[in-house]
Amino acid sequence: MKPARFDYVAPTTLDAAVEALAASNGDGKILAGGQSLMPLLNFRMARPSILVDLKRIEGLSFIDVRGDKVVIGALTRHCEIERSPLIASKLPVMSAAMRYVAHLAIRNRGTIGGSLSHADPAAELPMLAVFYDATIIAQGPSGRRKIPAGEFFIDALANCLEPDEIVVEIEFPLLTRHNGWGFEEVSRRFGDFALACIAVSIERRGRKIVDARVAVMGVAETPLRLKMAERALCEAEIDSAATGRFADVLRSNVAPNTDIHASSDYRRRLVGALAEKALTAALHRAGEGSS
Ligand SMILES: Cc1cc2nc3c(=O)[nH]c(=O)nc-3n(C[C@H](O)[C@H](O)[C@H](O)COP(=O)(O)OP(=O)(O)OC[C@H]3O[C@@H](n4cnc5c(N)ncnc54)[C@H](O)[C@@H]3O)c2cc1C
Repeated sequence: MKPARFDYVAPTTLDAAVEALAASNGDGKILAGGQSLMPLLNFRMARPSILVDLKRIEGLSFIDVRGDKVVIGALTRHCEIERSPLIASKLPVMSAAMRYVAHLAIRNRGTIGGSLSHADPAAELPMLAVFYDATIIAQGPSGRRKIPAGEFFIDALANCLEPDEIVVEIEFPLLTRHNGWGFEEVSRRFGDFALACIAVSIERRGRKIVDARVAVMGVAETPLRLKMAERALCEAEIDSAATGRFADVLRSNVAPNTDIHASSDYRRRLVGALAEKALTAALHRAGEGSS
């Protein structure tokens, strides 16, 4: 199919892009990599009156370290994050996850700002934003505001942006004291959206985990950070039953829906199995940890 008619602008400044969006009275759409938006336009599931293309705006594609954060510009493409040595050393879970994002051709065009804004509940970057406790910075007519990732995703394919706001950059705090991590995902075919996925990061000291991060997706309409699973990891000593206990905690604390891709029960059991593998990998990477 072909899209319905729309106007098109490609401003060279952020202010002009915000102005064009604001002038559309909520009927305009940002165009970034186009990998999610163009299919929606072609199927006429989206019928914006105007597309505001960000590609001519300079300074929106970068990966920087600022203090204890990695900051990524909204127009940074998936493939740039995937290949970045800085991401590999500072945000290893993100680095490991990027090859699971769609296929190479899509990663060559898709952007982090587009992925977060699209808010697909089975997409890796929204889950990573929740996992790292990222801050999403959006610019609108009255300036910039900072939105915690935990508040950004409000439903499947829905975020809390105002219609005239543009995501400009994302801050990812570093998990500097953590010494082990695991990322596990299952999809029907490699490159498809995930059926379920988990990220785990731990600070291990000897037989104790003193700090933990756990996030999952594929079990709700938004990605979830599981603080109860984080507490459970820090409560018991690490022994041969630790990974099995962790899988039980995950299985009993998620309530996925049944959909055309998988039943609720299948997803729950899958998350348990992935949790066990991810914690095993995290413990392995952490070794004995420092005592
Ligand atoms: C076949 C296929 C398989 C895929 N598989 C996966 C997968 O496994 N995992 C995964 O994570 N993704 C997957 N994707 C999605 C892909 O990662 C997209 O690139 C991404 O979701 C959207 O990024 P984009 O830059 O192309 O955004 P666009 O398509 O340009 O925009 C998407 C939406 O976000 C809005 N938007 C874009 N940028 C901004 C901004 N800066 N501020 C405010 N709003 C903005 C647009 O208006 C639009 O509503 C897949 C896509 C396809 C077509």
